[in-house]
Amino acid sequence: MSPRPLLCVASLFGMGLCASTLLAADAAPPVVTPGVQGAPPSDAVVLFDGKDLSAWKSGDGTAPQWTVRDGYFEVGKGNLMTREEFGPIQLHIEWASPAEVKGEGQGRGNSGVYFQGRYEIQVLDSYQNPTYSNGQAKAFYGFSAPLVNASRKPGEWQTYDIVFHPPQAGADGKVTPGSFTVFHNGVLVQDHIPVSGDATTAAQFKGLTPKGPLLLQDHGNPVRYRNVWVRKLK
Ligand code: MG
Repeated sequence: MSPRPLLCVASLFGMGLCASTLLAADAAPPVVTPGVQGAPPSDAVVLFDGKDLSAWKSGDGTAPQWTVRDGYFEVGKGNLMTREEFGPIQLHIEWASPAEVKGEGQGRGNSGVYFQGRYEIQVLDSYQNPTYSNGQAKAFYGFSAPLVNASRKPGEWQTYDIVFHPPQAGADGKVTPGSFTVFHNGVLVQDHIPVSGDATTAAQFKGLTPKGPLLLQDHGNPVRYRNVWVRKLK
């Protein structure tokens, strides 16, 4: 239904211009029941509720070889990706790098969240662990360093809340960039960063797509994940 103007506010100069338009109550947004303390809201697609990996498969399409225990799952052999494919989404995911610190730089608690299997928001133990700035945790890997480093200590649970819009090709072939907005532990770290069509370091997936899987990276480090859900956006 198209919005119906209810009220026009006259300008200070008496020109009678519409400065704002209030929308009718029947144009009200859908009701969503929010979750408590990171729990999924009522319109979310739950990708991991602490029990099993039924929403996931290995990067090669076979059964997941990652371990589920005590309400979380841990990086195992091969990448993990969702069975369902997504366009624009809001993602909530919680992760923890290993409590026992091993390695340094990119070798310490490395994993990653790839949107549409292509565009990586880095997962890394970035607590007192220097590396190149657009490769640390919550970087748009290889393209955008985070605004600040809000990392918690190794072994502590951390949250990502991410809004992703994919780049899109128009009928004329011209690409409209997408975007990333990222909160790390509630702190804004990527502020509506553009995502171009070739802004990927992924090997398996290339090119523009309306929908693609969410993929978690096996980088050889036992990073843990829990409480994973998305909301589909338009
Ligand atoms: Mg990574």
